[in-house]
Amino acid sequence: MTDLWPQLSALLPQVARPVRYIDHEFGAVHRSDFDDPSDTSFCMVYPDTYELGQANQAVRILVNAVNAAPGMWAERAFLPDADFCDLMRQEGLPLFSLEGCAPLAEFDCVGITLPHELAATNVLEALDLAGVALRSVDRAEEDPFVFGGGPCSYNPEPFAAFFDCLCIGEGEEWIVEVVGCVRNGRIAGKARTGILEDLARIPGSYVPSLYGPAPVPVETGALIVPCSDAAPRTVAKRVFNGFAESSGWEPCIVPFADLVHDRLNVEVLRGCSRGCRFCQAGMTYRPVRERSADNVVESVLTGLATTGYDEVSLTSLSTTDHSQIEQILVRLGSELSGTGIRVSIPSQRLDAFGVDMATLVAGEKRGGLTFAPEAGTQRLRDVINKNVTEEDLFNAIDASFKAGWRCCKLYFMLGLPTETDDDVKGIASLAQRAYDCAREATPADQRGRIQINVSCALFVPKAQTPFQWCGQIAPEEAMRRVNLLRHSVKYKGVRVNWHDPSTSFVEAIMSRGGRECADLVQGAWERGSRFDAWSEHFREDAWRSSAENLGLDVDVMAHRSFALDEVLPWQHISCGVSLGYLRLEHRRAMRGTTTEDCSFGRCTGCGLCQDLGTAVRVREARS
Ligand code: SF4
Repeated sequence: MTDLWPQLSALLPQVARPVRYIDHEFGAVHRSDFDDPSDTSFCMVYPDTYELGQANQAVRILVNAVNAAPGMWAERAFLPDADFCDLMRQEGLPLFSLEGCAPLAEFDCVGITLPHELAATNVLEALDLAGVALRSVDRAEEDPFVFGGGPCSYNPEPFAAFFDCLCIGEGEEWIVEVVGCVRNGRIAGKARTGILEDLARIPGSYVPSLYGPAPVPVETGALIVPCSDAAPRTVAKRVFNGFAESSGWEPCIVPFADLVHDRLNVEVLRGCSRGCRFCQAGMTYRPVRERSADNVVESVLTGLATTGYDEVSLTSLSTTDHSQIEQILVRLGSELSGTGIRVSIPSQRLDAFGVDMATLVAGEKRGGLTFAPEAGTQRLRDVINKNVTEEDLFNAIDASFKAGWRCCKLYFMLGLPTETDDDVKGIASLAQRAYDCAREATPADQRGRIQINVSCALFVPKAQTPFQWCGQIAPEEAMRRVNLLRHSVKYKGVRVNWHDPSTSFVEAIMSRGGRECADLVQGAWERGSRFDAWSEHFREDAWRSSAENLGLDVDVMAHRSFALDEVLPWQHISCGVSLGYLRLEHRRAMRGTTTEDCSFGRCTGCGLCQDLGTAVRVREARS
């Protein structure tokens, strides 16, 4: 493979933060470490800068999985920042892998994770910088196979044209199988189309080029149907069944550059069955699987000893729901006592955050405290099935402020289905009463430091959720509600922050759109859109101009509600939770009826365990 280092190093003095473009970080694995460089090569790309992508779990898991498998090896790549993208084009330097500084176009396979919908134009920026054809249909026999995966794969259609094969679900085992499939196909001298058909036979694989529009969607129950026998009618998600038994210690790289999340991450639990009706991960990462306390404690201690990090995060969708979380925290507390190492829990459910948990998490160095009531009234919390009460919030605030916290972030969403102005004002009232509760729990001489930060995102309807049929409110209406909230807050100690509705608007188009979105994305990119998740780079005008050019009404695409019997753009993709269950949950939401968490109660019939043929497992409710 070509070594681009001489060309790259000459340009580094001209760009911001060049440290993110050099490799040899502690723990990095180099192909020279492998005995047969002719093995099949894979480059894992994070479609944003190194600071954001290096700590990404998918990048670490997939690179480790390929490097651990025979006959293949992997390297990483990140999208350079905007200044370097422009300089690279000017100087003719193609996108390169970090470890070997090799052109991406020379790899056999390239993987691009899709962390969120706003990464779409960055996918094109990366492919274009790499000199790889933007669309699968335009790739030549020797071009890399471009794989995709991650949260956006549950409605893959807006991205479909740009990928040769997408992973629906979890990639730990899938990535080795698809890279192996390319390897075997090339060794056997198979044509690209033959290898694509082989890829489609691997469970969890979606090969968009083997599908086309359904002649009569209502008959087929899908807008997209196979046009090859190799392609399954419905692509069922891939589940990593070995998660619980697998070690929580994933060899990781300690970077030179400062990262957004610069700490050791140990995934303790996968999946969540709380059933929040807006939450895609809550539906798509089922079933719930836990790593045992022994596994977690050993993984944390190994990770800290290997990396030298002074902070470890116990990651999952709902870490305080782990059935052994207190045992884990007690054991880590004693093992790490006096070391100054912080153990943080990124996702605390406020109904699981009592005094004991607060004290255990507080440990020696307190991290940020975040609770997510999501809605300002009990009526709306029942509609979204959040299953938490005001009392839960006030108990958690009381416990954490008694344990020494003085600042707390409260997450809410605006624009949730059925939301009224009373619900918006309810956010202000709830936050102010949380402040009053914090004051009660705080010694008088420290009350001046109390801060409640209200952070509001705009609801984005997501595929594979009970709210997938709901439209998004218009950005103007979103700002009217933001201002209503701001004017309803009277306390100085309560601050209100909100996300820019225009970026959430593009997210909604991409999360509910079909194949027509590929032209929209490419048009926006050609008009200069990239780094759309960064407010300083986001270009709504480019998206709207692209839509106008294509005759697409993006307002309707984002705002209109789908009928419950309408065939949806992603109906050929299954996350295991049945369409019937999602419809049932939608109707229950509109009635304001809640559904219990099957982990702590009875099976509520989402269909996944039956679909997977796995036993329904009920966890012991924590005391
Ligand atoms: S099938 Fe039942 S037990 Fe299994 S995840 Fe769904 S609701 Fe829970």
